[in-house]
Amino acid sequence: MLGQQLTTVSEGGSSSTVQELDNEMTAGGYECDCGTQALIFQAWTDANPGRRFYRCGAGRRSECNYFRWRDLEKPHGWQKKALLEARDLIKAQDAEIKRLRETQAEGIESYAGEDLEMEKKALESDLKTSKEKEQTLREVLLISWIGFICIFATVIHALK
Ligand SMILES: [Zn+2]
Repeated sequence: MLGQQLTTVSEGGSSSTVQELDNEMTAGGYECDCGTQALIFQAWTDANPGRRFYRCGAGRRSECNYFRWRDLEKPHGWQKKALLEARDLIKAQDAEIKRLRETQAEGIESYAGEDLEMEKKALESDLKTSKEKEQTLREVLLISWIGFICIFATVIHALK
């Protein structure tokens, strides 16, 4: 049973102290009052760390209040203490992972910001280059035009 996939059940946005277990093992389990197959969850409260129970399988919005402990014995003694310690350690590690992920996301964002800044600079320099090219073209046209007038004037003068 250890090593099976655990899904954290969140209620109202906050991570609750209940986990939904891989419910393949509900086969042959209990049917809940509303006729749905009951699902197994795991409590992680201070009173019942790791203790499994059945709840209605019709989803969290179900009105059905079916509840039944799967593990009949309450957690106690050093095992209970060890489970609570493990729970708190995992919580702390989850928080650390979350914090690191957020830091990483911020890092990516600021990199993207730098990229954008560089792209803007590249575009500005492109624009400058094309303006310079336009200026050069105008100068060339002006010079050819003056040249043409000179030649034209020379020809006219020669014909006189
Ligand atoms: Zn039900």
